[in-house]
Amino acid sequence: MKRLWIALLAGVAGVAVAAQPGRRSVSLLVVGGTVITQNATHAVLSPGAIAVDGTDVVEVGAPDALAARYQARETVDARDAVVLPGLVNTHTHAPMVMYRGLADDLALMDWLQKYIFPAEAKTVSPELVRTGTKLAALEMIESGTTTFADMYYFEEEIARTTVEAGLRAVLGETIVQFPAPDAKIPAESLARAERFIKEFKDNGLVVPAVAPHALYTNDRASLVATAELGRRLGAPVLIHFAETEDEVRIAREQHNMTPTAYLESIGFWGPRTLGAHGIWVTDDDIRILQRRGVGVSHNPESNMKLASGAAPVTKYLAAGVALGLGTDGAASNNDLDMFEAMRQASFLAKHATRDPTAVPAQTALDLATIGGARALGMEKLIGSIEPGKRADIVTVAMRAPRQTPMYDPVSHLVYVTRGDDVRTTIVNGRILMKDRQVRTLDRTAVIADANRLAARVRDAVGR
Ligand SMILES: [Zn+2]
Repeated sequence: MKRLWIALLAGVAGVAVAAQPGRRSVSLLVVGGTVITQNATHAVLSPGAIAVDGTDVVEVGAPDALAARYQARETVDARDAVVLPGLVNTHTHAPMVMYRGLADDLALMDWLQKYIFPAEAKTVSPELVRTGTKLAALEMIESGTTTFADMYYFEEEIARTTVEAGLRAVLGETIVQFPAPDAKIPAESLARAERFIKEFKDNGLVVPAVAPHALYTNDRASLVATAELGRRLGAPVLIHFAETEDEVRIAREQHNMTPTAYLESIGFWGPRTLGAHGIWVTDDDIRILQRRGVGVSHNPESNMKLASGAAPVTKYLAAGVALGLGTDGAASNNDLDMFEAMRQASFLAKHATRDPTAVPAQTALDLATIGGARALGMEKLIGSIEPGKRADIVTVAMRAPRQTPMYDPVSHLVYVTRGDDVRTTIVNGRILMKDRQVRTLDRTAVIADANRLAARVRDAVGR
């Protein structure tokens, strides 16, 4: 209640100073609420305010102080809300929302080889990728994700849709050994990836990348070629690695090494590589990843659903590996809600180590914000609310019975918040959703298009 009164008084002060001359004109003010900055000192302002001009955060401070200094063209009222940096989903396959619930309750190899790869061979098209990405973007905007890292096909379609939706993304064109939906042979995929990277290289929202699917779907030559392509063009390289015990067994049989050590032996790892999963790693593997500056994406929900295992999160963090959090594609999760991913990251770590202090709420929030930014090599731009960084900000309503009372906002973000509690989503200083009204996509049309295409998927796979 005290907080509310302070916020109300600040609001009154804001009105009182509205007529003062000499205030700097900015594009946006986010006013009131508890601002969780996620900066180096984990500063929390309650109540707080954020001034944004163009794409960047200009100042973070007390509401009355900022109201006295800035005049904004638009204001977001965040009273009774928690304000935090937009969430960073470090691993997904956005268009796979079109396969949500198509094949559940299977192990990774069965799921991939008997269901997902065949369904993709029959149904992936530029249209499905476009429609799926719109649906995924809608879900991400509505649940507070502002940046996502993607690995899929027709990545140029995903890039165009991402820019249209206003989200930020690292998008990796997938390379596999077998005929892919958008290329017959790896060389063709590589040529596609090169064209894609050059086309989107200077985009303000999209970072183009190349994505060899995994060790078990690529030979040595194409793994080396993708790493070289990434290095030559200064682009990130995304891969799945050490996801299952089977993958480790095969790598040991074929190369007498773990997947991580094999990728090291061919010069694959570097500071711009991001490995997803990294469950079955040895202490030596973790040292390799740390030494090479590799980002690792932890995907607790996908890993639990496919019974792949539990990544050694605590060991990664102790070793100083840049660790982020991801949902994986919606076909193995089955949603893109990063709040749920935070909660499950915390629970899975506690369960797997039988240590209730493993991955506390603050650590889970770090993984989903500044940790993800570090894993993607974007920590100077995003991951916290600080002057000079891009204004990627979300507000979360905290008035539901389930959220009452609130002693600790960080605890609430991780342990009781759902994606649906997000009220406002801002990316690059642009409001994509305000009071749950998405401005960049036509919600009704996106859902109708997805349902229409799903009927074709159903026919194609005989469901
Ligand atoms: Zn994946």
